[in-house]
Amino acid sequence: MERTLSIIKPDGVKKNIIGEVIKRFQNANINIAAMKMIKLSKEQAQGFYAVHKERPFFDSLTDFMTSGPIVVMVLEGDDVITQNRKLMGATNFKEADEGTIRKDFATDIEKNVVHGSDAPETAAFEISYFFNALEIV
Ligand code: GDP
Repeated sequence: MERTLSIIKPDGVKKNIIGEVIKRFQNANINIAAMKMIKLSKEQAQGFYAVHKERPFFDSLTDFMTSGPIVVMVLEGDDVITQNRKLMGATNFKEADEGTIRKDFATDIEKNVVHGSDAPETAAFEISYFFNALEIV
């Protein structure tokens, strides 16, 4: 059993597709072990995306991530990191496979609806960034 962090980004919340994203996880038999809605400060967004701090889009990305509420979730299941990345689709929605969340709902390489951890180490860091042990069912 593996865990990963999922975020419905501000554009996903604004598009009223929280339920649609959750439905896709549940249809894939992914268990939701924790969930909350929060609004990040600039500093919190910078801390979360610290690995990208040298990228040219870092400032724009962290502004975007603070532009409205987000929904953060801990997903649980066999091979869930890879499974979630498949449901999300490629970073750039133009390159995402048909039927993926980003292909269906993203409008921009940055405003791409969802985040998902990309490896066990990043999943562990990202989950602990938002949840303590008592908050994960
Ligand atoms: P992910 O793992 O698919 O989310 O992609 P990355 O870890 O490479 O990038 C993190 C996030 O930064 C992406 O989900 C996008 O929101 C944003 N991003 C990635 N590449 C670009 C880019 O070239 N331009 C801008 N503006 N944002 C980007």
